[in-house]
Amino acid sequence: MDVLKDYYQLFINGKYEDSSSGEFFETHNPATGEVLARVAKAAKADVDKAVAAAREAFENGKWSKFTAARRARVLNKIADIMRSKLPDLIRLEVLNSGKTVDAAKGQINQAIEDFEFYAAAALTLRGDTNPVPNGFFNYTVKEPVGVCGQIIPWNYPLMMAAWKVAPALAAGCTIVLKPASFTPITAYVLADICHEAGVPEGVVNVITGSGSEIGPYMTEHPGIDKIAFTGETETGKDIMSRASATLKRVTLELGGKSPSIVFDDCDLEGAVDGSLYGIFYNTGQSCEARSRLFVHEKIYDQFMEKFVEKAKRLRVGDPFAEGTHMGAVISAAHEQVIDSYVKLAVEEGAEVLFGGKRPEGPEFEKGHWYMPTIIGNVTNDMRVAQEEIFGPVVVVIKFSDEKDVIRQANDSIFGLGSAVWTRDHGKAHRVAAAIRAGIVMVNSPISAFPGTPFGGYKQSGFGRELSLETLNLYTETKSVVSYTGSRPLNLFGL
Ligand code: NAD
Repeated sequence: MDVLKDYYQLFINGKYEDSSSGEFFETHNPATGEVLARVAKAAKADVDKAVAAAREAFENGKWSKFTAARRARVLNKIADIMRSKLPDLIRLEVLNSGKTVDAAKGQINQAIEDFEFYAAAALTLRGDTNPVPNGFFNYTVKEPVGVCGQIIPWNYPLMMAAWKVAPALAAGCTIVLKPASFTPITAYVLADICHEAGVPEGVVNVITGSGSEIGPYMTEHPGIDKIAFTGETETGKDIMSRASATLKRVTLELGGKSPSIVFDDCDLEGAVDGSLYGIFYNTGQSCEARSRLFVHEKIYDQFMEKFVEKAKRLRVGDPFAEGTHMGAVISAAHEQVIDSYVKLAVEEGAEVLFGGKRPEGPEFEKGHWYMPTIIGNVTNDMRVAQEEIFGPVVVVIKFSDEKDVIRQANDSIFGLGSAVWTRDHGKAHRVAAAIRAGIVMVNSPISAFPGTPFGGYKQSGFGRELSLETLNLYTETKSVVSYTGSRPLNLFGL
C-alpha cells in the first residue's frame, strides 16, 4: 500500500476529522506540478476546537505533569518509530517538497536526533535555590508555558516540525501545530507517530489551512500562551504585533541574507566547495543560505573560475534520482520571484555569471525549477544583496580589507547565519566576534546540529532553536518564597 494518502484530515484531540466547513485544498508535487493529495482546510472554528483540546490536555496534567523521565521515554519512542519509518518519511517529504532524497534523508535523520536530544534535555529541566535572608527559603521551578501555537514554513517541513514539537513536548507543553500549506503531509505523519508513541490525546494537534486566515487567528487566540514561528520576516512582524494584545510569549525564526567571507589565505578548494553547498543545498531555500558571498580581490579570479566551473557540474533534476544535487523550487509563484530578482540584478548593473533561468530539457517541462545562479559585479547596497531571494541565487562581492568587509557583512537588516573562510585562526575568531549574526561558521559549510543554538540577531528574529536554550523558552520560572521562622512575621507591628 502506498504510504501517501489521498486525503489528509485535521488531527484534533487524537482523532482525524474534516474541517467544520468541509473545505479542503490540494497539495502538490513541486517537481511535477501534479496534485498529490487533498488536505482539510481548517476554519476558525477548527482552530478553536484544536486550542480547546490542547488547553484541556494541558490542564488535566496527563502530559504536563508526567515526570520528565516519562516524557523522555515517549520522545525516544517517537524517535524510534520515525527511524523505523525512515524510507516512507523520506519519500513523502521528497514528493511534497521537491527536495532531493539526500537532503530529505539528512533532514529527517536530524529530526529524529532532535527528539532524542530533547528526551535527554527534558531530564535537565530544573530550578534553583537562591540566597535569601535568614528565616526565608526560596526555590524556583520550571513549569511548561502552556498551550503553544507553532507555525512553520515549507522549506524543511519535518525538520522544522521536530525543532518545534520536540522541545515543547519535553517541557510539558501542549501544541497546535500549523504546517505550511505547500508541505502539510509529513506533519500529519508526525502526529500519527506521536499518537502511536503514547502522547496523550489533545497534546499534539495538527491543523492546516490558509496561513493568512488561521495564522493571525492563532496569534490572537486567547487560549494560546506562546507562538513559536518560523517564516518570513514580514510575517514575523505581523505575528509580533498581533501577539501583543494577549502578551503571548513569542519566538521568531525569520529570514536572512547570510554573508560568507572568503579571505585570500583560505583553503581554496574547501572554500569553493563549502560556498557551493552553503547556497545551493536545498535549492537555496534555506534561511541561513550563504547568499552574499564576499571574496578577497587577491583570489577573486581564481576562486570564481572554480566556483562557476563546479556550479556547472551541479545536477538539477529528478529529486528521487541518485546523485541529484538540486531538486525543484516550491511553487510556480516562487520560481517567478526568484527570476524577477535575477532580472532586477541585471537592471541594477550586476552580471549573471551562471544560470539565471529555468533549466532546459524534457524533464523540466513540468514542475518548478531554477538553475544554480551566480551573480557577479554586485555591490552590497543593491537590492539583490539586501533582500532575501530564498532560491538558488548567490551574489558575489569583491573586497580588499578585513575591517571593511566586516562593515559590509553587518550592513544588512538580517543577522542569521554567516561564514568565514581563512587558515588564520586569530582572524577567524576576530571576524566571528565582529559579525552581528546568531551563527558563524568557521571553515564549515554546516552548522545545525541538535544542541547547537540556532537563531538570529536583528530582523532575523529572536529566541533560539535546537538547543537547551530552546527548552527554557517553553517554560516559565516560578519562584516560591517560604517563611521558615519559628514566630509569625508581624510586619505591620500591630
Ligand atoms: P511564510 O512567512 O510565508 O509562512 C510561514 C508560515 O506562516 C506558514 O505556515 C504560513 O501559512 C504561515 N502564515 C502566513 N501568514 C501568516 C500570518 N499572517 N500569521 C501567522 N502565520 C502566517 O514563510 P515561508 O515562505 O513558508 O518560509 C520561508 C521563510 O522562512 C524565509 O523567509 C526563511 O528565511 C524563513 N525561515 C527561517 C528559518 C529560521 O530558523 N530562521 C528557518 C526556515 C525558514
